[in-house]
Amino acid sequence: MRQKFEKFMQGRYGIDHFSRFLLVGALVCVLLSGLLRASALNYVSWILLIWMYYRMFSKNIRKRCEEERMYMDTKEKVVRFCKGEKSVISDSKTHKIYRCPHCRQKIRVPRGKGKIEITCPSCRSKFIKRT
Ligand SMILES: [Zn+2]
Repeated sequence: MRQKFEKFMQGRYGIDHFSRFLLVGALVCVLLSGLLRASALNYVSWILLIWMYYRMFSKNIRKRCEEERMYMDTKEKVVRFCKGEKSVISDSKTHKIYRCPHCRQKIRVPRGKGKIEITCPSCRSKFIKRT
């Protein structure tokens, strides 16, 4: 049985991070559909599961690798975005964030310095703000 399965899986893509993500997504949908009595989520979980199996048994490995890379890129962006938001919140007591009126660049300046002239690091324009 094991050998048969191994032979079957030869040249096929198998499981990667994106497949695991689809599996977790399907499980979450099943749980939520039970909790919220939303049967539509049941269909979503089936779609996610079928998608996962399709990728697992797929022989188009290059395409699957591309999907995996896209998934990892997106995940990294989301993680970086969340971390960025956290750091803004944690030092909001000591620093203030302004946007450059010319290029919309975010600029972080220390609080409690009174009126100061801020020079934008990207476009070099100057503007005055109270900190
Ligand atoms: Zn600027």
